[in-house]
Amino acid sequence: MNSKVKVPNKRNSFLTLIVIALILAGYFAYTNPTFTETEKVSFTEFRQNIAKSEISGSVLIQGDKVSFKTKDKKSYYTYKEPNSSVYEILNDKEIAKINLEVKPENTFYSDLMFAAIPVVLIVLFFLFMFRQAQSSNSQAMSFGKSNAKMHDKTKEKTSFKDVAGATEAKQELEEIVDFLKYPNKYSKMGAKIPKGVLLIGAPGTGKTLLARAVAGEADVPFFAISGSEFVEMFVGVGASRVRDLFKKAKRNSPCIIFIDEIDAVGRQRGAGMGGGHDEREQTLNQILTEMDGFEQGTSVIVMAATNRPDVLDPALLRPGRFDRRVVVDKPDIKDRSAILAVHGRNKPLEKGIKLEKIARQTPGFTGADLENIMNEAAILAAKNDAKKITQHDLEMSVEKVALGPEKKSRVLSPEERKITSYHEVGHALVGHLIPSCDPVHKISIISRGQALGVTWYLPEEDRHLYAKSKFEGELCSLLGGYVAEEIFFGEVTTGASSDLERASGIARRMVTEFGMSDLGPVVFGEKNKEVFLGRDFGHAKNYSEDMASKIDAKISEFVNEAYEKTKAIVIKNKPKLAEIAEDLLVKENISRDEFLAYFN
Ligand code: ADP
Ligand code: MG
Ligand code: ZN
Repeated sequence: MNSKVKVPNKRNSFLTLIVIALILAGYFAYTNPTFTETEKVSFTEFRQNIAKSEISGSVLIQGDKVSFKTKDKKSYYTYKEPNSSVYEILNDKEIAKINLEVKPENTFYSDLMFAAIPVVLIVLFFLFMFRQAQSSNSQAMSFGKSNAKMHDKTKEKTSFKDVAGATEAKQELEEIVDFLKYPNKYSKMGAKIPKGVLLIGAPGTGKTLLARAVAGEADVPFFAISGSEFVEMFVGVGASRVRDLFKKAKRNSPCIIFIDEIDAVGRQRGAGMGGGHDEREQTLNQILTEMDGFEQGTSVIVMAATNRPDVLDPALLRPGRFDRRVVVDKPDIKDRSAILAVHGRNKPLEKGIKLEKIARQTPGFTGADLENIMNEAAILAAKNDAKKITQHDLEMSVEKVALGPEKKSRVLSPEERKITSYHEVGHALVGHLIPSCDPVHKISIISRGQALGVTWYLPEEDRHLYAKSKFEGELCSLLGGYVAEEIFFGEVTTGASSDLERASGIARRMVTEFGMSDLGPVVFGEKNKEVFLGRDFGHAKNYSEDMASKIDAKISEFVNEAYEKTKAIVIKNKPKLAEIAEDLLVKENISRDEFLAYFN
């Protein structure tokens, strides 16, 4: 850092030097007699002066320049014709009257200038090169420094209050805060302070937020760095950054080092394909070494976050390293309300707004998603020049986040609209008539993102287990659109392709992951061990070709069963489906209540 500050200083002093040199040169030039203030006169005037005997002192001839002084102490100069002698121009009488003095042309200063300019330029050039080299040198020197950002203590601190829900995670971290605050309490008991805490959870569940909150609660410095920042173009940089980071941290003990996205460096060593892993391995080794190297009594706690604990090197997870693992779950309905409330704190919410209702509509959403919903609602309210955020704003933004923004500009032909309407009602109707399916929340034929229409199902409550019947129901409702197109229009369109893709995916997982087919309770293929996740080629498929064809047969069996069942349902309810679809064509949206009314 220091070197960076010095460089402009050096340049400044250099500039000053040049300026001083210029001033000096100017001064000398000024005091030089040839440059002193003189007036130019014509040669005739010069001769007149001679005639009047006004000239005092001698007349100086330098090249073609003729300088003289008059008796009233004024200096004048004039020029004679080039290559002519004064003796030729002036007559003898005139020459007799003056005292001629001939000097060589004064070229000293101009010669000096011409001689000096290249020298100065060369010197400047070398100085410039030198400085350039130096600054790049210092850049290389600071390259290995970790650019961990130390949390600014004067800024507003994050505390556990800012983290809504996540009760279990907070409880476990409470302990860490205690370690950091009162290290002696534990060392007196002979207890070792944990070195590493690994936060595990899906993206956006608040891992980074929790780590900050721990630092804020314990009121200790917090060094945050992202795993990817260790990975540079040059080998060895990562390791030296780790060294630097831990050195800084030890100086500031007690403190927290937070390595975000540790999977960027902490992947299993010796894994993957191609080169370029040496660097990561070195970095990882350095982290391990540093963690082992903490002396007794340094209370530096390394926190790390990842959403891929499965790809981490086992060496990172052994006791004495990241042995504390805190799982940060996606929030349940109660926590979702709380998170919405946290992010609604500084926003003007309409009185009587029901955040629980929004929480109910957002199963599977993470803290980051919910923050986004609150933000979108605020933007919407501001766009409408409203004073407060209303329930409607919130609901619109849930829709926007869950289903993608409406694309009203996409114009469908009447034929396409009709197909879309029957397709969506096909999904909804089949889903409704199969008990294991989630209730329909909304049907819409307004385009969103890629989709021309949507049918939005919402579970009654958060779901943690999925039964086989649930998947079978889902297969049917997914095929509902396809079957409706087939029955009402005689052929299917490309509109069903993503439905089919999802249906096939579900059927495949039923067979290969969940053991729901009569191939038995066996898992086929190694989950999470595909190539790019960090291991070798060819390990993903651990079953025979014979079994592969059996799996394929089972998958199509599941899909075909669902297809037959769906077809039966659609044929039986053809008039009802047509009725709803025609209404949807007019209304564009059908809500849950409107939909249920058709069945009463
Ligand atoms: P992660 O690191 O797990 O990917 P972050 O900690 O960066 O997620 O969370 C992203 C944002 O989501 C945070 O800035 C925060 O505003 C919000 N958020 C996530 N979880 C919560 C929570 N439990 N309470 C309040 N806000 C949350
Ligand atoms: Mg994060
Ligand atoms: Zn569909």
